[in-house]
Amino acid sequence: RAKSAGGNRFELADPEADARAITRHGLTTALPTALDRGEFFIEYQPLVHLGDGSVRGAEALVRWLHPQHGVLSPDRFIPLAEHTGLIVPLGRWVLEQSVRQARAWRERHGGAEALGPLRINVNLSPCQLTHPGLVQDTVDILERTGVEPNALCLEVTESALIGADDDLLKPLRRLAEMGVDIALDDFGTGYSNLANLRRLPVSILKLDRSFTQSMQQFPADPVDLKIVEGIVSLAHSLDLAVTVEGVETGAQAEQLRILGCDTAQGWYYARPGPPERLHDLALVDATG
Ligand code: C2E
Ligand code: MG
Ligand code: MG
Ligand code: MG
Repeated sequence: RAKSAGGNRFELADPEADARAITRHGLTTALPTALDRGEFFIEYQPLVHLGDGSVRGAEALVRWLHPQHGVLSPDRFIPLAEHTGLIVPLGRWVLEQSVRQARAWRERHGGAEALGPLRINVNLSPCQLTHPGLVQDTVDILERTGVEPNALCLEVTESALIGADDDLLKPLRRLAEMGVDIALDDFGTGYSNLANLRRLPVSILKLDRSFTQSMQQFPADPVDLKIVEGIVSLAHSLDLAVTVEGVETGAQAEQLRILGCDTAQGWYYARPGPPERLHDLALVDATG
């Protein structure tokens, strides 16, 4: 790219690319100590039951409050954390914080017994899956906090499990046997192998935002409707619940409800935010 089309003359390299590379380098250097310095925090985004609109839980989404760059989204630093290995302690920290938060919600959430405890969804990176401590760490955290396994859902992307052999699936199977839900995140973006679903210890499909986006136009593309309808009916026939992400409008929510999706998440309901907000949202449901 630095070599221009005009023969031997060299042009300056793309200054934006340079800035990005410098930032990436800087972030990678700052990353290992960021956890000790307490620069990470977690926002929670409600998971809403499409049938009755009640808040059933939340997904934990990590952010980095960088001293120079301000709040960084996970897309900026999770890949770096995976590359440097920090993802293992960072992921463990997110899991512990989130499960503690679920416990705190439950303690304050007396009014909503009928709906069961608020559930907590936590993202797992592929590196955590191959780390030998995953099952024991999870068991320890649940025991320490007194949260029952079925209040926890671990989200794994479909692409992380593509071609997964039994060794990779073993820890997930053990967690599933304990009662932890496993969700297949961003479903439908990879080369979804539907037959493969039976082999995976998952109980929830999280339909990728791209499907939700295609429900934006009215009437929605009939082929997209058929695809979502097909995925939902296949999922249900395999006893999997369907969650949709990226719901931004009431029309999308209604369309996805009609198509049989179970749970939704998106800006239409709430953006990711501090934990107190979730409690307030859930309490509104419970009392009104
Ligand atoms: P994800 O797990 O698929 O999370 C959903 C993403 O969609 C979040 O982005 C969320 O803020 C965003 N979102 C939610 N509702 C809407 C909506 O209505 N419209 C749009 N346009 N976006 C919406 P976020 O927080 O930037 O996280 C990005 C990704 O980073 C996550 O995708 C997840 O893969 C990863 N991530 C986040 N936290 C963690 C973590 O603790 N550990 C690991 N390994 N990955 C994480
Ligand atoms: Mg997720
Ligand atoms: Mg997702
Ligand atoms: Mg996604």
